[in-house]
Amino acid sequence: MSLVGVVICVAIGLSAALGVYLRKRQTETVAANREAVPADFARDVTLDEHHRAADYTIARTRFAMAETLYDAAISILWLAAWMAPLYALVSQFVSPGLTRSVVFVLAVGALGHVLELPFSLANSFWLEERFGFNRLTLKTFLLDEAKEALLGAAIGTPLLFGMFWLLGALPHTWWLIAYVAFIALMIAMTVIYPTFIAPLFNKFTPMEEGALKARMEALLAKCGFESKGLYVMDASKRSAHGNAYFTGFGKAKRIVFFDTLVEKHSVDEIESILAHELGHFKYGHVRQMILQAAVIAFVGFAALYWAFGNETFAGWFGLPNDPGVVLVALLLAKEPISHLLRPLFAWRSRKNEFEADDFARRMVGKEPMISALTRLTRDNLATLTPDPLYANFYFSHPPVPVRVAQLRAAG
Ligand SMILES: [Zn+2]
Repeated sequence: MSLVGVVICVAIGLSAALGVYLRKRQTETVAANREAVPADFARDVTLDEHHRAADYTIARTRFAMAETLYDAAISILWLAAWMAPLYALVSQFVSPGLTRSVVFVLAVGALGHVLELPFSLANSFWLEERFGFNRLTLKTFLLDEAKEALLGAAIGTPLLFGMFWLLGALPHTWWLIAYVAFIALMIAMTVIYPTFIAPLFNKFTPMEEGALKARMEALLAKCGFESKGLYVMDASKRSAHGNAYFTGFGKAKRIVFFDTLVEKHSVDEIESILAHELGHFKYGHVRQMILQAAVIAFVGFAALYWAFGNETFAGWFGLPNDPGVVLVALLLAKEPISHLLRPLFAWRSRKNEFEADDFARRMVGKEPMISALTRLTRDNLATLTPDPLYANFYFSHPPVPVRVAQLRAAG
């Protein structure tokens, strides 16, 4: 491996060290604040609930620390030790050409998935189980794994063949064509995912007629919002955590509520959660996120164009210059940069959350939103006292105490 290769491996290690440091700060801050419920929540959260939230947050954060170190070690091992022999092994069975490159990428993907299994198993059946959130059975877990593997192969194989073929046919313009195709696929996915893929994993039932649905529809009309429908998803099959989200585009938009959310919240609270989601649409956050993904993809394809055209890239790691090898190596090598960009994207996302909260406040008032946020925090055992640096780096949503304070301050 050349010096550049070594530097990239060291960067992966340093990036993991930063992740561990930030998580360590988080566990320390949460532990230091374990004995007192923040004043703003003293009325709604008991000391016992506060203790459980602290214990859950600390356990999860420690788990993430171990996973961060493990993932970095695996990435470095792939680059420094495993890719070369795996490529040699694939070469024994597959003659040079498109198929060899594709088989190599799929082999790394499959092995990588197997290496992640201990953590996914431990996450559901040990960590989430201990705090009473896990509803997943081993059967559902294995079925999910099988479906994901089949889907990954069914979607990934033709895409990889297409990309590697294009690369050979049009060495200088392939990446622009691939980029346009990728954007088209991303837009198609917003329709394909909710209609064909998500139903493979969950059941979506139209929301029952009744008081709740009437209130939701009245709110949609008030906000001037058109949608194909309101659905309830059987999230309780996997976890007790509650949530709500939007999918689709234009008239195919759907609003999906987790059954776990509908069960636990009052109609007023669910209305405020819907109003918050509508705020994201009103302010164009969904469009903004798609644009952001398009910009990131452009940079990604430009980097691929550079790496595929550059004989030395694979050489940095002492690897053969095969497009499959280059693709995997680039995906591993970019990790430290993605990690360092996290705070920027997290900051943008938190800004959007404040705007959506403000929209909800104007539509349905601040009290239901405050009470929904408090209940979500309590039910999900989220901490009320995160470390500020950790939160600024990783949180896509502002900490609940900050959101509540903002809503109260808004008059
Ligand atoms: Zn939001």
